Amino acid sequence: MTSGNSCFLVDCGEATQIQLKKYKLKLSKIDHLFISHLHGDHYLGLMGLISTMHLSRREKLLTIFGPPGLDEIITVQLKHSHLKLHYPIKFVRTSTLGKNLLLDEKYIKVYSFPLKHRIPCTGFIFEEKPRLRNLIKEKVQSAQLSLEAILALRNGQDYVDESAEVVYAVNEYTHPPAPLRKYAFCSDTLYDEDIVPYIRDCSLLYHEATFMNIDQIRAAETCHSTAAQAATIAKMAGAKQLLLGHYSSRYVDLHPLLEEAQAVFESSLLSEEGVTYWID
Ligand SMILES: [Zn+2]
Repeated sequence: MTSGNSCFLVDCGEATQIQLKKYKLKLSKIDHLFISHLHGDHYLGLMGLISTMHLSRREKLLTIFGPPGLDEIITVQLKHSHLKLHYPIKFVRTSTLGKNLLLDEKYIKVYSFPLKHRIPCTGFIFEEKPRLRNLIKEKVQSAQLSLEAILALRNGQDYVDESAEVVYAVNEYTHPPAPLRKYAFCSDTLYDEDIVPYIRDCSLLYHEATFMNIDQIRAAETCHSTAAQAATIAKMAGAKQLLLGHYSSRYVDLHPLLEEAQAVFESSLLSEEGVTYWID
């Protein structure tokens, strides 16, 4: 996913770098990588990606957020292949205890939160930071506002010019910024209402939907969710939109799965390879 100039990769299955190449997404743009858990389909592409970045003569830091053990797996592979990378990697261990701030960038904050799966697993929340209000240019120019006044207004405060005994009202000189967006990524998880407080009011919720209703028992046994369960979580959390994914290969046609989700939460979508989804 991208935000401004930042490009984040969330989970890294086997064919990730092939897909990135196919869709013309540059590896060099990725500085932060988030791995939810250590089942192969979520991280086996990582070593290949690290090697390709080395071959591309990357020099800048790569930060990898993931569960304990990931650093050991990568370090052992590097050690036995006698590969001395051209660039540094920083591993940051995720925790399955509560919500944790992982990254605090200029425009965005990234958090992890626990999911219930067969091994330690976390979801991730990408949350835009509050922005300054937008000036109404004509008004600001005609009033010839000082820098101090502009700063106050952009920060949402009325400005009082005591010498001139004038109050500049924030609503008269500025428009509110666009609503803040929040993307929640729920990787593999059992149906778990405990995650709702973490993902509340997200603009877009990605939630795994491995199974259909008919296979609900199998979903519970394998610590996965059904499409209808994903939709229930989206509804409880007040999400604007739900993106389904991680479908079992037993389903050739995914539309019945989408219908089961939409019966619970109308704004449900199927995630598809190579499609870009915009977060409103
Ligand atoms: Zn898994």
